[in-house]
Amino acid sequence: MFPKSFQKLIEHFSSLPSVGPKMAERLVLHLFKQKKDNLNVFVKDLQDFANNVNFCPCCYNLSEGQGECSICQDKKRKSTMICVVEDPLDVIAIEKTRRYSGKYHVLGGNLSVMSQEEIGKLKINELFKRVEEGGVREVIVATNPTTDGDTTALYLARKLKTLGVRVTRLARGIPTGGDIEYADEITLSSAIEGRREV
Ligand SMILES: [Zn+2]
Repeated sequence: MFPKSFQKLIEHFSSLPSVGPKMAERLVLHLFKQKKDNLNVFVKDLQDFANNVNFCPCCYNLSEGQGECSICQDKKRKSTMICVVEDPLDVIAIEKTRRYSGKYHVLGGNLSVMSQEEIGKLKINELFKRVEEGGVREVIVATNPTTDGDTTALYLARKLKTLGVRVTRLARGIPTGGDIEYADEITLSSAIEGRREV
């Protein structure tokens, strides 16, 4: 029904989370109505995004280029503390509170319904390796307060304790079943401050 190139874009947009086919049609029509120049800037930014955004080789947060992310590179941040989160949006949420000055480690998910193969992709061994390398005194496990997040936290805590570091979990300000990414800054700040030993 739509021109072929138009239809292709609809399919790309429909594959995005929370975008249904109708919404995708509207978005593509909106793009079509843009000035060609704007559209070309959009395309260029998309290409840059595809080519330049990578995972930080140290903490697996998002990074521009091949090197370490801006947080890992920041000499003012304490490398004695690592805050473990499920995904990069959780880093952003915690950064917004301005209450945390350590480093991060992004697992890339949690130990849930995933297949063994998917679990293998989580950056768990990379975390243990960072701790084993020394210099880390505390690991704050800030996985989401869901059953899966809790399971992951317990699993990590058991192993991390054998490595001789203090392991803490965010306080329960965030509702159970909730998502750190969506917690408001005040709730998240108090959850960081009230963290408890696991
Ligand atoms: Zn990093």
